[in-house]
Amino acid sequence: MVLRLNVASTCVGTPALGPGWRSVVWVQGCPFRCRGCVAPEWIPDVPARLAGVGELAGELLADERVDGLTFSGGEPMAQAEGLAALARAAREVRDVSVVCFTGFTLPRLKESGLPGVAELLSEVDVLIDGQYVRERDDGLGLRGSTNQVVHHLTGRLADVGYDFEGRPRTAEVRVGEREVALVGVPTADLLKRLAPVLGGPGRSRRER
Ligand code: SF4
Repeated sequence: MVLRLNVASTCVGTPALGPGWRSVVWVQGCPFRCRGCVAPEWIPDVPARLAGVGELAGELLADERVDGLTFSGGEPMAQAEGLAALARAAREVRDVSVVCFTGFTLPRLKESGLPGVAELLSEVDVLIDGQYVRERDDGLGLRGSTNQVVHHLTGRLADVGYDFEGRPRTAEVRVGEREVALVGVPTADLLKRLAPVLGGPGRSRRER
């Protein structure tokens, strides 16, 4: 069976969403409705770009410097089977690390019964869990608000000198032919200042 992912967007090679030089997949569709979600256009569960796992792996690793993948969205766990297959396919080519965001808490996730969750968790090095809560956004770290927990499911990224919770936030503005995209976890102030350029909340991860 050819697994396909419903992809909202991708980014090949960025320092803005985890340690090292990472490629990012944002999936389309999320069952949550967090107030202040930075990518509301990716909440509806509608067809976006339907991409095969092999095709995506090739795209994400096209830059030889890429040493990690970040899965975000939308809700990655709603497409866990496909993302697990993507992580495996990528790792056949290169030993990339995997960071994954989810709106589920880890305990809730384990009880969710969603297909492919255990499979995906077995591929993830760092899981950042929980919904975005605007009132608990302290403007720091790769997680969007302080209720979210950074789980080092493996030790791979625990000692690389990257402070997932307390580092100053970074975001990257990418100017394409047809759009301007914001990649990373921006502070609320940065989002506000860039809103006129982005024409809306912008493409940005992660504010869970
Ligand atoms: S912040 Fe994340 S979990 Fe919340 S609605 Fe947006 S995409 Fe879904």
